[in-house]
Order: sequence, then structure tokens, then C-alpha cells
Amino acid sequence: MKQQILIIGAGFGGMWSALSATRLLDKQQRLDVAVTLLAPQAELRVRPRFYESDLATTVAPLGPLFEAVGVQFIQGSATRIDAAGKRVIYRNAAGAQAELHFDRLILASGSQVARPPLAGIDRFAFDVDSLESAQRLEAHLQSLSERPNSLARNTVVVVGGGFTGIETATEMPARLRAILGDKADIRVIVVDMGKRVGSAMGEQIANVIAEASDTLGVTWRLGSPVSMVDEHGVMLDDGERIEASTVVWTVGVKASPLTQQIDGERDAFGRLHVDRNLKVLGQEAIYATGDTAYAAVDDQGNHALMTCQHAIALGRSAGNNAAADLLGVEPTPYSQPKYVTCLDLGGWGAVFTEGWERKVVLTGQEGKALKTEINTKWIYPPEANRETALAAADPLIPVVA
Ligand SMILES: Cc1cc2nc3c(=O)[nH]c(=O)nc-3n(C[C@H](O)[C@H](O)[C@H](O)COP(=O)(O)OP(=O)(O)OC[C@H]3O[C@@H](n4cnc5c(N)ncnc54)[C@H](O)[C@@H]3O)c2cc1C
Repeated sequence: MKQQILIIGAGFGGMWSALSATRLLDKQQRLDVAVTLLAPQAELRVRPRFYESDLATTVAPLGPLFEAVGVQFIQGSATRIDAAGKRVIYRNAAGAQAELHFDRLILASGSQVARPPLAGIDRFAFDVDSLESAQRLEAHLQSLSERPNSLARNTVVVVGGGFTGIETATEMPARLRAILGDKADIRVIVVDMGKRVGSAMGEQIANVIAEASDTLGVTWRLGSPVSMVDEHGVMLDDGERIEASTVVWTVGVKASPLTQQIDGERDAFGRLHVDRNLKVLGQEAIYATGDTAYAAVDDQGNHALMTCQHAIALGRSAGNNAAADLLGVEPTPYSQPKYVTCLDLGGWGAVFTEGWERKVVLTGQEGKALKTEINTKWIYPPEANRETALAAADPLIPVVA
């Protein structure tokens, strides 16, 4: 029987893990090890684009790619990880329980928005975290055109002025106008606990975010958290009420709940601490990658963020190193010292920064051209061709955006 490298998740981390593990097995000419990937769908859902209105192009099929490189895909959802017994229990496509054995496991089940227990939030707040929730938001926005003109109908409140909140809010004026018409008196309000516009993103980039917000007519309500959401708007902690038929929640994120099933230290987001080869500390056969891994990117004390920029490189390392461990060859320690940010700012353009302090390098339409390139090409899967796909999975290829 073949030895098994099992990967849970078909996101950036999981897809690149599968390709890089296969690449190393190919290089070592080892036909006695199989790579199997378990996920609800054989598709890469491009989460960084879920704040857009056209969601059809945010899903890339992975079936032909897996077939081309020889990765076995199993449709299902993992429910239990038995580390001692080296088994993963899962619900298959027909809803029945089944199990898979592993010699090395790579956990790549990602993350999700962490909604706090606020009154009305689950019933009335939208988000852009998953394909399904982004589709719900888009359907709701489309339905606004059937409602009579009102302040609430024309208002979108975006809760949270971090990366996702800013991208969602700055795209919203164009989305609303496309639905309600150019003459509609629209309002887009970011509710954020910070003291300055964009302060969560750092000093330099904050000025650019403020300028883009002004140009687009996106306003910020600073200094108070939301205390309640209902069908007609939000209440803030300081007593203010904002009328809005659309509330989009973007605050907080947590690692996949599967991380809780593995003994090990976790960070505040629930990510598992891993060593430089991305093996979970204290585990013999389990690796974590993408948004489930708390991984050092350099020797300066910086750690990977929950971004696809990091998940791609973490995936290429985790797959390679899980395979190397099994084969008894030298691993390639994960290292990603370069950090950049490319933040979409809707009709204003985008801002590209370099470094952990986010030094502004490109703005406006120049930034937008780069953002479009990243979001429509660079982060998509390689073509379904064995040679090029495996070459693209080399863990030493730097990820620069
Ligand atoms: C609106 C938005 C904008 C963003 N913008 C950016 C950006 O501009 N730049 C950037 O770098 N990052 C951005 N991100 C973050 C980025 O999308 C994530 O960091 C990235 O998707 C993480 O990749 P991953 O592979 O770890 O997890 P995911 O992409 O979340 O993939 C997880 C995979 O695991 C599967 N899975 C989950 N649970 C199970 C289970 N129980 N069993 C089997 N499979 C399971 C899922 O179906 C999926 O296939 C953005 C995210 C959002 C939501």
C-alpha cells in the first residue's frame, strides 16, 4: 500500500501544498507515496475578490489540474482529526461518514470571519468572507432597486476599517450606483473603533485611504463599536443610530475550527504554532499551512499574516516539507522576508506598499493596474499541465504580492 500525504482544504495553502508535495515526489521518483486532497469542492475560491459584484470569475476549477499532476481529490468535509491514530474522519459528498489514513497530514482548512455575539448580527449583517455570503450580499444589493427610495435603502454600513472593510466600502459606491442609478443619494459609512481613518493599516497608507474615501464619498464614523444590528440599521455603543438596509460585517477572523482538534500551542486567532518547516510544534506527522499556521517569516520576529500572499508560499513549503519528511530528504525551511500590501480603493484606484511599516510605492491607477494583475492572474492556479504546474510549486519561488 502507498504511503499517504493527506491535505485538508483546497484554498491557496492546500492547492500549493498538493502541487509542491507532488513536485518533490516527482523529483525523487517516488511512486510509492500518494498525495490526496480532501475538500468540499475541487475549486479554488478566490476569497480576496469577494468584495466585488461579479463573483462568477472568483472560482477556479481544480479538477483538471489535480488530474494533470496526479493528486487524488476526495470531495468531503473533515469533521475529526485523530492524530494518534493518523486518521481523518470526514463527511463525504453523499453525507455519509468515512475516514482516511495519513502518514503526513497538512492542515490547510483556512479561516473564517469571527462574528461576536451581538444582538441581530447573525440575522441582519452580511459579510464577504465566503462565496455563499458574498453571493447573498450581491443578491440583497440587487433587491434594493425594488424598494422605495429611502435613507436606509441608500445606505451601506461597513463595520470595520481594516483591509477587508476598506476594500468592501470603497467598491460600494460603484456597486450601489450600478443598481440604484447615478442620481441615487447613496451613503457608504465605515464604522471603525480607531481614532483616524485607516489607522489600523499604518501611518503612511492611512493618508491615501483618507484621500480615496473623500474622493469616493465614503465617510468614516470613528471611535465607537457597533452594539446592535437590526433590519433597519445599527446602534453604536455611544448611542448613535445609523439607518441602513445593508450592514456588512468585516471585523475579526479566526482560524478553521479543525485547529482546535490538534494538541499544540495556538495564537490569538487560533493558528497553530509551527516550526520553520511548518510542522506543528509537538506533532510528529502534522503540518499546518495558510491561515491555520502561526509561522515565522524571518529572523526579525515577523510572522505570516492571514493573507493569500502568505498562504501561497506557506503552501509551497508545507507540501515540500511534509514530503521531504516522509522521504527522509532535506526540507526547505519556510522564509518570506518580503511583505507587500496591495489595497483596492474602488474607483479611486489602489495603493501598493512595501515592508511591514507599509511604505507607499504606487497609488491611484498605477496601483490599480497592479491590483488587477494580482487579483485576476497571479493568485489563480497554474494551468493544468504537469510540467508547468510542478515547476510553479518550487518552494524557493518568492511570492511578491
Ligand atoms: C474579502 C477578502 C479580501 C481579502 N483580500 C486579500 C488580499 O488582498 N490579499 C491577500 O493576500 N489576502 C487577502 N485575503 C485573505 C486570503 O483570502 C486568505 O488569507 C486566504 O484565502 C487563506 O488561504 P488558505 O488556503 O489558508 O484558506 P482558504 O482560502 O480559506 O481555503 C480553505 C480551504 O479549506 C477548505 N475547508 C475548510 N474547512 C474544511 C473541512 N472541514 N474539511 C475539508 N476542507 C475544508 C475550504 O473549503 C477551502 O477549500 C482576503 C480575504 C477576504 C475574505
